[in-house]
Amino acid sequence: MQRKTPSLFDTRGMTDTAFDYTVRVSPRARYVRLYVSPHKGLEIVVPRGFNCKHLPAVLSQKSAWIERALERVRPQRERLLAPMPWRLPEHIHFPAVDAAWEVRARWTGAKRLSINFHRPGQVEIQGPVDDPALGRHLLGRFLLVQAENHLPRLLTALSHDTQLSYNRVSIRRQRSRWGSCSAHSAISLNAALLFLPHHLARYVLVHELCHTVHLNHSRNFWALVARHCPQYRAAEREMRTARDFVPRWASLD
Ligand SMILES: [Zn+2]
Repeated sequence: MQRKTPSLFDTRGMTDTAFDYTVRVSPRARYVRLYVSPHKGLEIVVPRGFNCKHLPAVLSQKSAWIERALERVRPQRERLLAPMPWRLPEHIHFPAVDAAWEVRARWTGAKRLSINFHRPGQVEIQGPVDDPALGRHLLGRFLLVQAENHLPRLLTALSHDTQLSYNRVSIRRQRSRWGSCSAHSAISLNAALLFLPHHLARYVLVHELCHTVHLNHSRNFWALVARHCPQYRAAEREMRTARDFVPRWASLD
């Protein structure tokens, strides 16, 4: 995956609009596609081997659509990008596994943060709770541990339901991928899957399980996905903006 953030000025005078955008090369893409989301703004997905010198023409052709779409997400995007003072979240919700935590913060003069689990559904965080780096680090660990508790279990259940077996599973915190599957049927899952609605998390896990049979996105692969997840097209569409489900404290951007 390759990313860059150029600013585009159409030099041929077809439009005087400049858009900020990111380009993502996708081996799965067959055409150039434009996506606009609050999280990423304008994203252009191009097939492998696409010559980016054609982008200005594409953008100027679609400029009216892009402007409308950017305008629609502008308020939400401004909120997302605005620098906000750090605060521990008061609640942590993991819709994928229907779990919720209340977070109690207690400032103390200690050097480090500590986390206590006194009662179910509640965590108490003590120490310099206004320190962003320490807070992110601690919550990142918490997210990983929770994901390690829940996601392998969910994968086991889905593996049983679908009769698709895998070798092992690892949980990671990753910026760009929700899941992957190796040639040896080792599945890797992104801890942030916990923030997705249950049907989307389920879809990602089923998608990876299907890769244990077809290590590609061939027609046979999608037929297998469709058998276990008939709504997969809608799920794929929803996944394009799924990063918007990840709260700021857990974002790796
Ligand atoms: Zn895939």
